[in-house]
Amino acid sequence: MINIQKNIPLAPLTTFKIGGPAKHFVEVSAEEELLEALQFAKENNLEIFVLGGGSNILVSDEGFSGLVIRMLNTSYIIHNTSIECGSGVLLSQIVKESAKNGLSGLEWASGIPGTLGGAIRGNAGIPLGCMADSVESVKTIVIASGAKQSLSNKNSTNSTRSFANAQDDIRILEFQNNECRFSYRNSIFKENKDLIIISVVLKLEKGEQEEINKKTKELIENRLKVVHPNPKEPSSGSFFKNPKVNNPELIANFEKDTGQKAIDGKIPAGWLIDEVGLRGKKIGGAQVSEKHANFVVNIGNAKAQDIVMLSSLIKMKVRDELGVQLSEEIQYVGF
Ligand SMILES: Cc1cc2nc3c(=O)[nH]c(=O)nc-3n(C[C@H](O)[C@H](O)[C@H](O)COP(=O)(O)OP(=O)(O)OC[C@H]3O[C@@H](n4cnc5c(N)ncnc54)[C@H](O)[C@@H]3O)c2cc1C
Repeated sequence: MINIQKNIPLAPLTTFKIGGPAKHFVEVSAEEELLEALQFAKENNLEIFVLGGGSNILVSDEGFSGLVIRMLNTSYIIHNTSIECGSGVLLSQIVKESAKNGLSGLEWASGIPGTLGGAIRGNAGIPLGCMADSVESVKTIVIASGAKQSLSNKNSTNSTRSFANAQDDIRILEFQNNECRFSYRNSIFKENKDLIIISVVLKLEKGEQEEINKKTKELIENRLKVVHPNPKEPSSGSFFKNPKVNNPELIANFEKDTGQKAIDGKIPAGWLIDEVGLRGKKIGGAQVSEKHANFVVNIGNAKAQDIVMLSSLIKMKVRDELGVQLSEEIQYVGF
């Protein structure tokens, strides 16, 4: 039996620590509970938002007027080199368990917050690897009418779902890796807001536990040293995706300045933000991190509005001065 609560503050459930309440809120730890929650939303004609670890979202100051479903399906089973996990399991937990069981393949994910559901939807990754490399299959609940073939290919920036059509279907669909349409920070689950990830099978390889632990430790140390802001400055990770750039002069400047290659013509958003002089820029309680310019941080009671104004300024300056259009990696909720 699910417990639908009212007016639950969302800020504490996000890594940004920003945003208003959910008008309706429920935590689900099993498929049947998720189905019950979806039924409630349907009967009450509510939009839904599926919440994982809240580490890649910005919730509006007004909050969310529909039903927030927090995924707490946290069970997992290891069979030889495969791990079957609920979508609410923390990625960090699976990284830890893999290492403990001498399974290699997820070392790159060390130190990334959030759940597996969120990580698969956004194909979370770093230059060394991404979720697409280890996913075997993904089980979903699809809440719109139509079969797998008819799933739209359109990009959707709004990740809330609505039950406006009372004829909406609810069915289970499983996707094999090659059907997930994984690409840079993208997947079929991100393109289709009607897909809710319930569980996933990850395929890893046998490895040397000592080697895995060494790699994991190095990656975490590097993250803390050069990427992650001070823990007292909450964030949602990289704010913008690294854009593909067509300007050879800009690419040459980047490569000369950093000694790095612009792989596939992609330049780190942080370098572009630095180029337009915005590192450290503040608006209200929002600031471009002094440590890594693609992190927007909450330096004290930031409003979602502060973050939006700062991100608009960043986009405008990067577009006007460098001719590059940035787009958000984070998802907006309740805007
Ligand atoms: C300090 C820090 C460092 C980070 N470093 C990285 C990094 O190196 N690489 C990287 O890729 N990301 C990074 N991130 C971003 C973030 O951790 C990842 O994107 C993470 O995978 C998001 O998972 P989540 O569970 O927190 O998703 P949430 O923030 O809860 O949700 C994100 C989106 O996924 C959807 N979603 C969540 N669960 C499901 C589900 N079960 N089914 C369908 N949709 C779902 C939500 O509706 C929402 O649209 C970082 C974040 C922080 C704060």
